Amino acid sequence: MTVERTLVLVKPDGVQRGLVGEVIRRLEFRGLKPVALKLMQIDEGLAGRHYAEHREKPFFPGLVGFVTSSPVVAMVWEAPNAVAMVRAMMGPTNPASAPPGTIRGDFAVDLGMNVIHGSDSPERAAEEVALFFEPSELVDWERTQSRWVVEAAG
Ligand code: UDP
Ligand code: MG
Repeated sequence: MTVERTLVLVKPDGVQRGLVGEVIRRLEFRGLKPVALKLMQIDEGLAGRHYAEHREKPFFPGLVGFVTSSPVVAMVWEAPNAVAMVRAMMGPTNPASAPPGTIRGDFAVDLGMNVIHGSDSPERAAEEVALFFEPSELVDWERTQSRWVVEAAG
C-alpha cells in the first residue's frame, strides 16, 4: 500500500458554480488528507505546462482559454493509492459517460467543463504538484482521524 499525493484542481466551472465545498467534502469524507490548498488564477504559461501532453490536440487552445478564464482551487491530497482513488471518484473525462456517484457523473454534462482535474499517474502527480506548489506550501501534518481510516501495518 503506497501512500501517494495527487494534484486536484476544481476547474473554473466548478469554482463559478459553487462546487468547491462539495469536491472537498467528498475527498475529506472518503478519508484522504489535504496537504495543500489555494485559490489561484492560472496563467497561459502554467496552463501550457500543466496540459503539455495535449499541446498538439485540436482542443488545446480552447482548454487553455477555459482554465485561464477564472480562478481554480488547487489542492494536494494524500492517501494510499490516492492517484487512482481520485480518478475513480472523478469519473471518466467525458461526463456523458460518467456514472452517477462520480463527481463528473453528478455535476457535469460537458466534455470541456468537467469540474475537476486529478493527476493520472504517480509520476505525473509529482510533476503537477511541483508545478502548482512551492515545497514550503505542502504542510506536513497528522490527521488524527487517519488511524481510524487506514489500519496500521503489522
Ligand atoms: N478536453 C476537451 N476536449 C477533449 C478532451 C479533453 O476539452 O476532447 C479537456 C477536458 O477538460 C479534460 C482536459 O481537456 O478534462 C484534459 O484532458 P484529459 O484527456 O487529460 O482528461 P482528464 O485527465 O481531465 O480526465
Ligand atoms: Mg489528464
